[in-house]
Formats: sequence, structure tokens, C-alpha cells
Amino acid sequence: MHKEINLTIKPEYTKAYQNGYPLISKESIVDWSRVTEEGMILHLQDSKKRFIAKGYHGKQNKGYGWILTSQKLSKIDVEYFKHKINTAIKYRKTFYTDKSTTAFRLFNGEGDGIGGLTIDYFDGYYLFTWYSMGIYTFKNLILEALKSSVEYKGIYQKKRFDSKGKYLDDAEDFICGTKAPSPLIVKENSVNFAIHLDDGAMVGVFLDQKDVRKTIRDTYAKGKTVLNTFSYTGAFSIFAALGGATKTISVDLANRSRSKTQEQFNVNNIDLKAQEIIVEDVFNYFKYAVRKKLSFDIVVLDPPSFARSKKHTFSAGKDYVNLLKEAIQITHKNGIIIASTNASNFDMKKFKEFISKAFKALNGTYKVEETFTLPKDFRVHENFKEGDYLKVVFIRKL
Ligand code: SAH
Repeated sequence: MHKEINLTIKPEYTKAYQNGYPLISKESIVDWSRVTEEGMILHLQDSKKRFIAKGYHGKQNKGYGWILTSQKLSKIDVEYFKHKINTAIKYRKTFYTDKSTTAFRLFNGEGDGIGGLTIDYFDGYYLFTWYSMGIYTFKNLILEALKSSVEYKGIYQKKRFDSKGKYLDDAEDFICGTKAPSPLIVKENSVNFAIHLDDGAMVGVFLDQKDVRKTIRDTYAKGKTVLNTFSYTGAFSIFAALGGATKTISVDLANRSRSKTQEQFNVNNIDLKAQEIIVEDVFNYFKYAVRKKLSFDIVVLDPPSFARSKKHTFSAGKDYVNLLKEAIQITHKNGIIIASTNASNFDMKKFKEFISKAFKALNGTYKVEETFTLPKDFRVHENFKEGDYLKVVFIRKL
């Protein structure tokens, strides 16, 4: 059973919760010290003890919990979770019938009404990602709700929180049903992806970039040379190659990226001869490219929002301008830079300022061809715009 307690919101924060802001912060609560364990259900009330909303405590880098309902009488039980999951399924009805794309996000955290939890669909398999111990305490209820709402081949999970040595009932990613083959081959706009549901923190593809990948393949790649930096498993390179790129170069410093990228090329029957995979620090590669006077028709930049390598610390908010400057120098005139970031601490407006600054510093000019944010299945909460973290800009260097 989950403990339930009443908490009082500080007056200056009451309005935000009343208006539907979903993230619970410690500073907004008068008597936070009474919150003693993750998963506690918090009844937030104003200073006159009037009910405002109900949420749970779960510690994430984002905050201390999420609002679940503004209905005082609503219980946080299996029925509650079933209702949320079924609403999410309805919203993605057409995704289930699309044979050319068999992987998508079924449940996107607060965008679907429960912060701290995502559920991804991979051709009949479901993957929970738990972002806090707090949401994980509801696992049995949520699992039961999912099982009774969908037909599934198998169900997996990833835990993205530090359990601090606490005993967890299971260490496994696999929960129930039948185990998926490894790799499991799914499709995205008719392209194959090799997915590993049971091999570390990540499965091999970031589903939020699907519209960007399709656009690269359908509109930009034909006859072009493509440098894909921070390439991970090479997803952008795969789509570029299938769109007719003459050559792709994928650069990532993680050793695993070489075999993972080869695997993605292989499952799409792409000849590896025209594809280069380089395991190296991107910042070294830029220096090398400048020295060798290399340049490309398309340069993809998709860095993590924060990363530390042996020589560099990269933080998107501070260093994206410099990253762009490096890329501009090795992009052909009339070439395209695809600048992407998933940093949630700045918005599209700021990101476009970074682009403007970088070109200005090099006395260059450019044109924004198109921009992307999250695709439809990555539903965003209307009162939590920070949740719309993805920003991708296709920039033509003039
Ligand atoms: N573009 C990828 C996702 C990138 S994830 C895709 O479409 O799937 C970020 C990647 O950046 C990780 O694989 C990480 O290994 C890599 N990385 C982080 N810092 C790096 C650096 N300095 N040089 C090269 N790769 C780096």
C-alpha cells in the first residue's frame, strides 16, 4: 500500500498547480520534511486546506514527483492506470496499423498523464522505462493495467534511477511473456532497426528522431556525402545511405558504436564499402578534417546534452555555438548542417540564436530550411513545455 499524506503548497506556487503544472518541486511545499519515502501519494492543498491535486513522490533530476490527478476522489489504483494507458493507446491508434513503422512510443510520461514513466512498443514487445524509485513502486499496478489493455509478445523494463543499494524485486530487464530475439528487427518507415531489449541501458535507437531520419532519406541524401557525428548506432547514416548518399562517415567515441553501426547497415543490406565508421572523439575528428581539408555536403550534429570525454567536457547550453563553428568549416557551400539537441534547459528560440552566433562569428550566412520538434507519439503536456525537449534545425550554408 502507498502511504498518503496531505501537504500544503506555498501561496506563490498554488496558482501553477491549479493551472495544471505537473511537476512537483520541493521548494513549492511548506512541509516537505514529512515526505519520507518514494512512492508516497501526496495530496496537495492550499493554505486554506482546499484540495488542489494529487501526485506521487519520485526523485528525478527534473524534480521531486509528478501530479497524477486533479480529482480529489480519484484513487491511484489499477483502474486509474488502465484508464491512462487506454487513453494513450487510443491516441496512437493509427500507429498500430502502420506496417511500415513497427516501433513507437506508446506512453510518454507526463504528456500522457504520468510523469516518470515511458512505454515503448517494438513489434509486439513493450518496454517500460522507470525514471524514479517512486514510479517503480507502482510497477505491479501498472504492469497489470498494461497486460489487461494490450496483446503482447513480451514485456521488458529499464530502470533509470539509482536504487542506492536498496533491494529491488528483480534485476532483470525481462518481465514476462516470451523473450524477444536479439536482435529484434523492427521497422521505421520501411527501414530495419536491430533492437536489443536486454542489453544495457539503451536499445539501439532513439525513436524521437523518426521524422528527421525520414526527411534526410527522402529529401536531402541523394548523391551527397554525409558526416554523422555523435552517431551512436548510425541511425542517421542508415537513412542517408538508403536515400542514396554516395558516402557516409559515422563518428562516435564509444567502442561499441562500430559493431552496433555495422549491425544496422547489415540488417538493411547496405554495402559497408561506401560507409566509414570511426571510433574517435568528434572534436579530434574536426581538427583532422580541417587539416586534411575534408568537407561534406551534409553534417549531422547530435551531441548528448552533457558529456565528458578524456579531453573535453561538452554542455549543449554552453558549447553548441563552438560545435556549430567546427561544423560550418567543413560543410560545403550550399551544404546542409543538421543541428539537433535534446537539451531541455533552452528552447528553440535560444537554439536558433546559437546558430546565428556561430555563423556571425565566421562571417557566414545561412538559411533555415526546416525545423523539427518531437513527433506525435512523443506527446507533450500542455502545461509543461520543457517536456518538448527535441530541437532539430536543417541549416543551409550559403
Ligand atoms: N545521433 C545518435 C544518438 C546520439 S547519442 C542517433 O541518432 O542515434 C550521443 C552519442 O554521443 C553517444 O553514442 C556517445 O557515445 C557519443 N559521444 C559523446 N561524446 C562524444 C565525443 N566527444 N565524441 C564522439 N562521440 C561522443
